[in-house]
Amino acid sequence: MKEEILKFFKGDVEDNEEILIKYSHDASLLEVRPTIVLFPKDSLDVQNLVKWVAQNKDMYVHPANDGAQLSITCRCAGTDMSGGAIGESIILDFTRYMNKLVGGPLPLRNKSEWEITVQPGMFYRDFEKITKEKGLILPCFTASKTINAMGGMYGNNSAGERTLKYGKMEDYILSAKVIFADGVERMVQPFLVKDISNKEEIYKQVYNLIEQNKEEIILAKPKVHKNSAGYYLWNVIQDNVFDLNKLLVGSQGTLGIVTEMTLKIIPDIKHSKLVVIFMKDLAPLGNLIAEILTLSPETLETYDDKTMRLAVKFFPEFLKNKGFFGMIKFMWSFLPEFFMMITSGFPKLISLAEFAGEDEIIVQKKCEELVKTIKDFKLETHITASEIEANKYWDIRRESFALLRKHVSGKRTAPFIDDMIVRPEFLPKFLPELNNILEEYKSYLIFTLAGHAGEGNFHIIPLMDFKRSNTAQIILELGEKVYNLVVRYHGSITAEHNDGLIRTPYLAKMYGENMVNIFYKIKTIFDPENIFNPGKKVPTKNQGGTKEYIASHIAKEHDADHAA
Ligand SMILES: Cc1cc2nc3c(=O)[nH]c(=O)nc-3n(C[C@H](O)[C@H](O)[C@H](O)COP(=O)(O)OP(=O)(O)OC[C@H]3O[C@@H](n4cnc5c(N)ncnc54)[C@H](O)[C@@H]3O)c2cc1C
Repeated sequence: MKEEILKFFKGDVEDNEEILIKYSHDASLLEVRPTIVLFPKDSLDVQNLVKWVAQNKDMYVHPANDGAQLSITCRCAGTDMSGGAIGESIILDFTRYMNKLVGGPLPLRNKSEWEITVQPGMFYRDFEKITKEKGLILPCFTASKTINAMGGMYGNNSAGERTLKYGKMEDYILSAKVIFADGVERMVQPFLVKDISNKEEIYKQVYNLIEQNKEEIILAKPKVHKNSAGYYLWNVIQDNVFDLNKLLVGSQGTLGIVTEMTLKIIPDIKHSKLVVIFMKDLAPLGNLIAEILTLSPETLETYDDKTMRLAVKFFPEFLKNKGFFGMIKFMWSFLPEFFMMITSGFPKLISLAEFAGEDEIIVQKKCEELVKTIKDFKLETHITASEIEANKYWDIRRESFALLRKHVSGKRTAPFIDDMIVRPEFLPKFLPELNNILEEYKSYLIFTLAGHAGEGNFHIIPLMDFKRSNTAQIILELGEKVYNLVVRYHGSITAEHNDGLIRTPYLAKMYGENMVNIFYKIKTIFDPENIFNPGKKVPTKNQGGTKEYIASHIAKEHDADHAA
């Protein structure tokens, strides 16, 4: 296969043992060994590859899996937690060469919005350096922003702490160059619905499918703030505008391959402050969130007592890279937590409401207004005095997962119920029920709870001992129970981390068979031969999307966290 590919491919083609092992993993708990890994030099490489795969699909059958034919799994930084960036056949990694700035940032509309064009393999951390130089930001950045790349954000419709106010990746894609299954690159951008008759077949078919199933699609929409499960059909036709990017963003490379994207970015906020709220009892959480949201905070994040305990216990970890004076100040800022731990124990939940703006005094006033607004809840609150102090709380929120995984020996992170979302008003009932389910399995896993409380989105990433023979059984059993609960509360099984191999089997549970059939039809419109990332979003025989595939591909030797 290598010789054949090298006839038309300018980039690198690698299939040595080391590379195949490395690319058998992303940040999920799964392991799938690819056949070959390619690093394209440019869009033409990708176009030629897609054409070659389409023509030769039946000729190369995976040696260890006689059901798996040629296919392409796109990959950027490989931090996907769902198994979306692993596959049996060809892995196409964009980070080695297709990682450049193409143009911008250029101002739009009185400089309140800007545009920038990049290739998918650019790491977010490099992207942010460029935007921050001009005081600009892509506000849907993830908690993995130091390790992920732009193509993965497109593939997963990524989101983060500022999504509450600023939306997800789909809200920032102005246009994109996408290679479809015929190997032709198209510029995908919004157009008026009335012009649909002039567009090519693929656009018309998507339009007709959505129109013909309008009621079913509207009915199936989970009533939550953000959702990455299934194909996102709800925003393709909006206000007389047809925008295919709304569907392609978040489709995990199963419908096409993005080779360039033009993003909207906005001025970053100058001043911000946190109100830290300590809760001993979860019961008032739903009402509290509703009160806080009336004041439109930038972010509303939360973490539990176990996370806080870990942070205090291992707080020297946080001192790294802070410098001598930064270290002293940081240690000093931890004193109240030490005191709290010794005197009255930790609160059950800590919430962070962030307010921001151009004027520091107004920001301080907003924080004070919040403290006043929630005074009837009789909770301990604290307004951070400095950026260093605010960073302490952010560090704990962002680093909790890393801390947990580093300090519990013999166990590994197992993301499979890592991203559920329900409406915040359901949380007071939902969280105790969730806790009851998790309690049943406490001899098998250790976990912390952290998340985007303002949206009702929680990340539970348990640590499990993968040497136990019943790990797969526990994962499937617990997954089933947790997702039944999520569906009962009309939530989504994934708000931002997407379906991949780990959640595709549960899409029918969440949406019902009719919707899943519509997803099949979408896949068939774009990719009738199933050459793009099989087994994700719709199941594919022997290549994923089933519970059996999960059970037989749980990573054994390798630490699934390597990508993170
Ligand atoms: C510690 C940790 C924290 C995280 N926090 C968050 C968070 O806060 N919010 C969040 O949304 N996610 C989070 N994630 C998940 C993940 O980091 C994000 O989804 C991220 O944006 C993926 O980027 P990546 O470059 O690693 O993509 P990859 O893992 O390489 O790929 C992600 C998906 O995009 C597809 N893809 C890649 N390139 C292309 C392309 N060129 N064309 C089409 N499809 C493509 C892949 O096939 C795959 O399905 C977290 C992960 C970790 C490990």
